[in-house]
Amino acid sequence: MTQDLENRSKALAKEWISKLEKERLKVNSGPVDEFVANQTLTMLEQLFFRYMTTNQTQELPNNEVLIPITHEVLSFNKKIFLAFCGALSSVTPKEDLTSFTNLLDDIDVDSFSCLAFLEALQKAANLSCKKYRLFLFSNNNGRIPVFKGDRIASHRFALGVYVKNQFSQHMVEVYAVTNVSRLFHPKNKTFCPDCVACFCKSSAYAHRKTCPLRCPNCCKYGYDYPCADEKKHLLCIDCNRVFNNLQCFKTHQMIACEKVKCCPNCNETYVIRRPKYVHKCLVHVTTNKK
Ligand SMILES: [Zn+2]
Ligand SMILES: [Zn+2]
Ligand SMILES: [Zn+2]
Ligand SMILES: [Zn+2]
Repeated sequence: MTQDLENRSKALAKEWISKLEKERLKVNSGPVDEFVANQTLTMLEQLFFRYMTTNQTQELPNNEVLIPITHEVLSFNKKIFLAFCGALSSVTPKEDLTSFTNLLDDIDVDSFSCLAFLEALQKAANLSCKKYRLFLFSNNNGRIPVFKGDRIASHRFALGVYVKNQFSQHMVEVYAVTNVSRLFHPKNKTFCPDCVACFCKSSAYAHRKTCPLRCPNCCKYGYDYPCADEKKHLLCIDCNRVFNNLQCFKTHQMIACEKVKCCPNCNETYVIRRPKYVHKCLVHVTTNKK
């Protein structure tokens, strides 16, 4: 599909160049400067391709957190690696950056497809620096990462790389993401690459239920969550939910208790003031009829 659009853009650019040449000959009969002609052709190809692939509803990334990787001669995988180094240097002390850079010694970067390379890189990173989980985003895929490294317990930072026009060899652009949690919202809101939700800092309960970094009980979010099961049985009579960890129980009373309830009839747990959500209790309806 993208390859097709790229070819189409090239054909259109050629057509336009020959039109331009006819116009030029009306005022200037000398031979054309080949450098200028080639530059114009390349620029037209790129513009036409962009024009054909753009749409207004596309989820645009927050440019404030993107740093372009401009080394033209590098292969795609090497640019991606460089972008991860850029992302890393914005969150971390120097030692980690050195050990991350050293990972490249053991990986033959250009022998892999992009995704296989990322998998190998994540594996190597898990063995040495241990803290970093890798994410690759693409303008072809909205907010959903095209790659996310398998999660391990020692991860503490999300490292992101953003790619534009991934499938077009000549027009691909690679960016280091300096802050993944701000990739899709410039201000106020936080982006969670795990469940692809955006939420305000104080409302971590707004993560999707499936988010692996959200505690389903106290609704706290982060690398230290979900809370561990301490085999306790603490019932909260206000929200009708059972907690298995004392700290989790205490934490939930601060915010989650008044927002997240468990229905006493059908046991569904739900967020009260989530827009558009109304708990329709099937069990409750049938007991009413009796
Ligand atoms: Zn989440
Ligand atoms: Zn908890
Ligand atoms: Zn409660
Ligand atoms: Zn119910």
